[in-house]
Parts: sequence; structure tokens; C-alpha cells
Amino acid sequence: MTSLSPDQIIRQEILALSAYHVPPAENMIKLDAMENPYRLPSSLSKEITRITADAHINRYPDPNATALKKTLRASLAIPDGMEIMLGNGSDEIIQIIMLAAAKPGAKLLTVEPGFAMFKIIATLTNMEYIGIPLKPDFSLDLDTMLTAIARHRPAVLFLAYPNNPSGNLFDEIALDKIIRASPGLVVIDEAYHPFAGKSFIEKLTDYPNLLVMRTLSKLGLAGLRLGLLTGRLDWLHHLEKLRLPYNVNVITQLAAEKIMYHYDILRHQAETIKQTRARLMTFLEHLKGVEPYPSDANFILFRLDNASQIFRQLQRHGILVKNLDNSHPLLKNCLRVTVGTPEENDRFCNTLQDLLTGN
Ligand code: PMP
Repeated sequence: MTSLSPDQIIRQEILALSAYHVPPAENMIKLDAMENPYRLPSSLSKEITRITADAHINRYPDPNATALKKTLRASLAIPDGMEIMLGNGSDEIIQIIMLAAAKPGAKLLTVEPGFAMFKIIATLTNMEYIGIPLKPDFSLDLDTMLTAIARHRPAVLFLAYPNNPSGNLFDEIALDKIIRASPGLVVIDEAYHPFAGKSFIEKLTDYPNLLVMRTLSKLGLAGLRLGLLTGRLDWLHHLEKLRLPYNVNVITQLAAEKIMYHYDILRHQAETIKQTRARLMTFLEHLKGVEPYPSDANFILFRLDNASQIFRQLQRHGILVKNLDNSHPLLKNCLRVTVGTPEENDRFCNTLQDLLTGN
């Protein structure tokens, strides 16, 4: 019997997708992925080495990650009465939520430009994707949002706070109205919380339909892959059924538990990043032909003429930023730079300045 080809078997919407692209970054100054540029202090790294060397990797991990959750609850100040679910990065949590809600015809509503994975995972899980444009200054268009919520009655609404790729925090009062107007679940994705200071976590008790998501990736632990969802048991109890039993591996559990015990180190690094962000912002504001957007995250979105060409020139000079030109009409000629170390930022700033002034 002749076997069917992959494109006869694979779902049409998957065939139409392109895989999430991560450009090669060997020997580059990597300012495209919102990582924390700082390593752990060597005393703590040595302790992690010792702990992980002793790890029982012949055994499956604790499926409930009990010890790690206890440390996270304390360090992240999870409100009493709220449950925690862990994911292999918060990407996995987005997938779990959408898989759970993807009844035939169920809709996922979010804003555009927003985090690319919201749309990709909606497509993978067969949710109908609704993207509502932000205003040109990347603030929420509240009237349009409320009309869209009433019309589409989305099963799930995702909003990143601060938003990626624009970097801004949305207006709190507008968010309150959106949560109250939503018939379905609202997930506030606080991936960039360490650089913003504002959070909806303390407000979880005010809304029965709200969940808050965090990640350790931007805090300095992107390689460990650990994301977290917090909220009421009535939601998390069902979402837990979709979580694969051993999604957070032994090494991640041990290392993250130890590191979160020293959360102040990561917080201090985040503070340093905020200070360097201010310097990077001042530089970009004063650079002729460049329009940076205010940021509460560890990256800055900026607009300039011939963005794609400048992106390629930066790449040729060994500097990798994110090219968002052509990714959305509101992002025409936009690039996004992650805040690096002062040395990395200087290299980026000097190279950009030279390219713009033709030196
Ligand atoms: N949410 C937002 C808004 C992000 O920008 C990212 C990473 N770029 C994530 C979630 C996913 O992070 P991770 O899977 O590393 O936890």
C-alpha cells in the first residue's frame, strides 16, 4: 500500500505555519531575546553544580515540584489561597490554557502587536484567533476592545503586561474594565514584571476569571525553562489535567529552588538592568532619526528609517537585535533591542550611531 505523504496527514493550518525562527547567534552580541546578560555569582553557581551533580537523574522528577513551589510561593509573594501551576517555560502554560479551552469555535482574543506565541499556539490548538490593534502609541484601544469582547465573547483573553514587543504597561483602569467585561478567562502575562514593578497578582482575589502568568526566563534563568501560572483552584484544578506529569525536570527543580532562595540576587540584577535601560533610552532619544518608545521591560522598541537595512548592517557588525519591520503595520521600520551589559549596550549604541551618520 502506498503511504500517505506528510502533507496529506498533517493538519492544513500546521502546513501553513512557519516554525518559530531563532537566528544563529554564535559570536554575536545577543540583544534579540530579552535574556538577562548577567551570570550568577560564582559561589552560587558552584553550589548549583554541587547540587545538580548529586541529583538523582535516574529517577523521574517530583511531579508536583513541591519544594520548588513552596520557595516560589514565598519569593514571588503568591497571595494566600491562590494555587500555582508550573510549566516548561511559560510558553507551555499558554499551550495548556489554550488546549483546555479549545472547544470547536472557541475564540482567543489578544492585542496586536503582541507576543507572537499567542497567535502561533492559538493556531496549533485550533482556537479562532482575534487580534485587536493597539493605538499607534501602543496603548490599549479600550472602546474597540470592549466592542470586540461583546461581539466575540472570547473563551480566553491574553494580555502581556508589560507588552511585548512594545514594552509598555497598559492602563490599569482599562485592564480592570476589560477583565470585568470578559465572559471568559483573562490571563495577564507578566513575563517582564521584574522590570516593571506593577502587577495584577494582588488583584487575583478581586476577579473570578483572572489568572496571572510569570516566568523566570527574563530574570536570568531562561536556560532552565520555568514558567508559573497562579490563580484560583477552580481553574488550575482543570488545567493541571493537561500538564504532562514530569514537565519540570529534576535539574530545573533543584537549581531553581536554590536560586529562588537567593531571589534578591536576581532582583538586584533586574534593578541594574532597569538603570542601564534608562541610559540606553537617553542615548536613543538623542540619536537623530531614531524614535524609541517608553519601556517598562528589559528591551526597547525603536523606529528608524530603513530599519531592515540597519538590522542587517548591525548583524554584519556582530550585533543581533530583533527585526520587527514588516511583522505588523504598526511596527513598520521598528527594531527591538534587549538591554544588555553596559559594554554590550555601548557596542550597540556606537555601531548604530556610526551606521546612521555614515561613519
Ligand atoms: N510571554 C511573553 C510576553 C514573552 O515575551 C515570552 C518570551 N519571549 C514568554 C511569555 C515566554 O517565556 P518563557 O517560555 O521563556 O517562559
